[in-house]
Amino acid sequence: MNISLSSDFADAVPEMAVSWEAVPVVEPELLALNEPLARELGLDPAWLRAGGLSFLVSSKGVAQAYAGHQFGGYSPRLGDGRALLLGELTDAGGRLLDLHLKGSGRTPFARGGDGLAAVGPMLREYLVSEAMHALGIPTTRALAVVSTGHVVQREEPLAGAVLARVAASHLRVGSFQYARNTGDLDLLRRLAGHAIARHHPGSTCLELFSHVVAAQASLVARWMLVGFIHGVMNTDNMTISGETIDYGPCAFMEAYDPTTKYSSIDHRGRYAYGNQPIIAEWNLARLAEALLPLFADDEDEAVSLALATLRTFDEHFQEAWIGGMRAKLGVSGDVKPLLQDLLALMHENNVDFTSFFHLLGKAARGDAEPVRSLFLDLAAADAWLARWRELGPDGEAMDRVNPVYVPRNHLVEEALAAGADGDMGPFDRLLKAVTSPFGERPGLEYFAAPAPQDFSATYRTYCGT
Ligand code: AMP
Ligand code: MG
Repeated sequence: MNISLSSDFADAVPEMAVSWEAVPVVEPELLALNEPLARELGLDPAWLRAGGLSFLVSSKGVAQAYAGHQFGGYSPRLGDGRALLLGELTDAGGRLLDLHLKGSGRTPFARGGDGLAAVGPMLREYLVSEAMHALGIPTTRALAVVSTGHVVQREEPLAGAVLARVAASHLRVGSFQYARNTGDLDLLRRLAGHAIARHHPGSTCLELFSHVVAAQASLVARWMLVGFIHGVMNTDNMTISGETIDYGPCAFMEAYDPTTKYSSIDHRGRYAYGNQPIIAEWNLARLAEALLPLFADDEDEAVSLALATLRTFDEHFQEAWIGGMRAKLGVSGDVKPLLQDLLALMHENNVDFTSFFHLLGKAARGDAEPVRSLFLDLAAADAWLARWRELGPDGEAMDRVNPVYVPRNHLVEEALAAGADGDMGPFDRLLKAVTSPFGERPGLEYFAAPAPQDFSATYRTYCGT
């Protein structure tokens, strides 16, 4: 089978595309293959299984240049240190998508890194990105994970793997920071032109920025609505398309607490759950700075246009967040006071975020006991439930938006540990649960339950190594 890939990115901005070849795999073994996605992409799953994937993960591509603010500090040169863009392909619906490898060996952007990835983190990205997709949240998709036979040295020697993924594009805020930082306005203009052609044909640069602001506001609101914590919202991990990208130390919040963070490298909680909207806005301000010369010739005018657009973030975010919460609560009208009181109550009572909304659906249909059991302060819970019931909640509508199964941290760890030991059973079962997240299914109780207390207290995620 011949895969026809285009090279639009490399053609548009060759200065930002270093031709490179993946390190050959030693002993490839297919660990996970997304057959439905393969078919959508026009790739024959049988061909992929029969060795097509080994061919793919040993392909030629380009390492993309980008810069980025990492935990607030600027690095002018990051780039794909261990990843390659193989090219763009057109899916069955006519959409142009990037086909990309992660863990494919050192590139000229690798700095001190080994260019490799371990099986666990690549399976984690596969699992969580597919769960996000099933939740209706824009994200890169996972096509496959192939273990390579390489030994990856971390705290201990680990089995190496390559993840093949697809994305609307891999253009990041950091891509624009890189182009701007070169001082080459023509490059910046070409990059913006490429992004516009790809994502918002016919737009001006200011309109492009405005689209990105709206898309990111909506994206982060959707994260917040399912309790997703990205974990490392550096500007190089924020897309122009509005898709979630780079699942490193990400996690789903269990007990509701806005200060929740799981990442072992996020000491100060910069990327904690409740900070995500403000961080997104901060990152978008960095994008505005990079694009400034394209907004207007006069700098003052460019700044005021950028600021006016940036200010729309909050409006977009609030709209998506409140609208989403209305749906989760199954009611219409003004929910702000009710919501504020609920979040305070959930925080005080350490209420599991996902379970609460799932069980609230049962309360809407007359069985309030399961949701009541999540609270210590029953009187306060009953008072809140009474106010909520007065609004006439629609339980069936709630069940369509409140997931029962999300990739809970203890389940993910269990699946990855087994996967690293060669047993893909737990991974496959968890994947099945979280890729049909809505509606309770008999026999899957285990996947709906919060982590045991002693697990949650000490849980940390490690960067996507
Ligand atoms: P991340 O935080 O995973 O998005 O990565 C940030 C930067 O570090 C990117 O430029 C990556 O390409 C690079 N990087 C991360 N891990 C490695 C590795 N093992 N080898 C080379 N580069 C890496
Ligand atoms: Mg990254």
